[in-house]
Amino acid sequence: AALYKIDGWGAPYFSVNAAGNISVRPHGAATLTHQEIDLMKAVRKAVDLKPAGGLGLQLPLLVRFPDVLRHRLESLHAAFDLAVRSNGYGSRYQGVYPVKCNQDRYVVEDIVEAGAPFNFGLEAGSKPELLLSMSCLLRGSSEAFLICNGYKDAEYVELALTARALGLNAIVVLEQEEELLTVVEASRRLGVRPVIGLRAKLRTKHAGHFGSTSGEKGKFGLTAAQILSVSRRLQRLEMLDCLQLLHFHIGSQIPTTALLADGISEATQIYCELARLGAAMRVIDVGGGLGIDYDGTRSAGSDASVGYGLEEYAAAVVREVRDACDRRRMRHPIICSESGRALVSHHSVLVFEALSSCSATAESLPIGLDVAHLLEGLADYRSLAAAALRGEYETCLLYAEQLKRRCVELFKNGLLGLEHLAAVEGLCELLAKEDGAAEPVRAYHVNLSVFTSLPDFWAIGQLFPIAPIHRLDQRPGVSAVLQDLTCDSDGKVDRFIGGWSSLPVHELYEEDGRYFLGMFLGGAYQEALGGAHNLFAGPSVVRVEQSEGPHCFAVTRAVPGASCADVLRAMQHEPEVMFEGLKGRAEECGGGGPAEAVGRRLARAFNSMPYLVRGGGERAGAAGGRG
Ligand code: PLP
Repeated sequence: AALYKIDGWGAPYFSVNAAGNISVRPHGAATLTHQEIDLMKAVRKAVDLKPAGGLGLQLPLLVRFPDVLRHRLESLHAAFDLAVRSNGYGSRYQGVYPVKCNQDRYVVEDIVEAGAPFNFGLEAGSKPELLLSMSCLLRGSSEAFLICNGYKDAEYVELALTARALGLNAIVVLEQEEELLTVVEASRRLGVRPVIGLRAKLRTKHAGHFGSTSGEKGKFGLTAAQILSVSRRLQRLEMLDCLQLLHFHIGSQIPTTALLADGISEATQIYCELARLGAAMRVIDVGGGLGIDYDGTRSAGSDASVGYGLEEYAAAVVREVRDACDRRRMRHPIICSESGRALVSHHSVLVFEALSSCSATAESLPIGLDVAHLLEGLADYRSLAAAALRGEYETCLLYAEQLKRRCVELFKNGLLGLEHLAAVEGLCELLAKEDGAAEPVRAYHVNLSVFTSLPDFWAIGQLFPIAPIHRLDQRPGVSAVLQDLTCDSDGKVDRFIGGWSSLPVHELYEEDGRYFLGMFLGGAYQEALGGAHNLFAGPSVVRVEQSEGPHCFAVTRAVPGASCADVLRAMQHEPEVMFEGLKGRAEECGGGGPAEAVGRRLARAFNSMPYLVRGGGERAGAAGGRG
């Protein structure tokens, strides 16, 4: 646990149990009613074959813990509640979940259900996000905010006003000045009076990767002049009473509460000015940015961590809004936040498997090669042999390098055979070992696509904690980079938390022992951002809930990942037509065995997931199987 810093990034949900497996406390603590879940047991239940009691799903596997989601939401609410009470704040906290972080139906439904007692709402940034938010909030509290952000056309605005007409508490937040006209016209057309918010472009700038949204050159929001112009136009239209909310977002992963406080005091001044100008202000929406400690260091030095926790964040927000309002003798507004990353990052673990490994260099001399005979014609080899006799290892290594360079040159010119090259590679490796050099970093081939499952690692270099989910009671003896299944040189993980360029891993078991790894804290953004490079699509998914059974968990939903047919269909191919064509050819030419057997083999290929199947083709039939 210490090696992988699990206590740092994993607390309070992940730790290591006595069996050396990752243990999950979905409620943040183990109690008599809430016991720890052994992640390996849940994974075995999902991937083992059906006759042995498993569900036969293929890897990779996303394990969702809805109880973690609930705990995150309750913790966020409790932190704000405490900050409101302890700072004598005159209003309340009422948050929303920005669905862009993870639009999965069950994630959003779980959040709406868990958040109903707190009037917790949703934030949407596009038309489909608005549609799903409207639909999910039908089952939530009618007080809950439905914050409508993002660029808007008339259709988007009409949808938001329809939400109001349906009794939802929808607020249209203007991101651009032009949107005001669209809102006014749509409201006249539909006869629905809008509630309007403004997104302010603050001067406060967050310097990390996620801060490009903030500052004067930021992509979104209204400048001071535009805010003034909008408020005057609303006044002329006798609609200033519609303007009720001020929103800002200085970027995700805000590194410090000092920066947060800076942004909040600037925004609260704008809020107070709008109230002075006659707007019916009542909500300040501080956006997202509540950060996650991906590397477990609790430091503000990089995008991989932040220097505060939930409580400090909530206290800083509440204190700053209170102080700024008190200075202006202004009534305290409802505080809304759009925390996404902080709500959903912990709720899922992506489990994948190392299938094989190889050393970056030759492991040993190929059998049957007579090195001396092959290389003795080369001067560098003779010098090397002489140095070896004298016991001068440093000199040996120098000659070995020279010899290797020379051999490669001769090989390129067609003057040496493959045997010579193999002999010199093997010799160099032997010498390095003799000299006590560190074991070279290995490549572990993992059943995963970095582009599909860790898109932010590939795109912006974001680090997520990765660790084996079992054998954590044994010291790992190998260092490895993880190479994915795609035919793409970027498809590898070669940077890890802690500044490592390789991950400590265990030797792979021989025979059929399996080695499972987990990518943690990836519950936000990764699922929707992931692509389908090489047509590797999303993982299988299970939902694991705490229950009273012997293993303290129940798998309450299991969905196999997209099949080859599914991903082909997404690219406009027609798997059924393809299947018939290929089967027809098998019938005509009789190749590959009886046509029926060929048909079965093809059907199995179309129905199984694109990822590799361990131990031959039989498993695919058991795992895919969706017709
Ligand atoms: N609100 C807005 C307007 C955003 O753009 C974002 C994401 O960047 C969020 C909320 C969520 O931010 P976070 O995931 O950092 O909480």
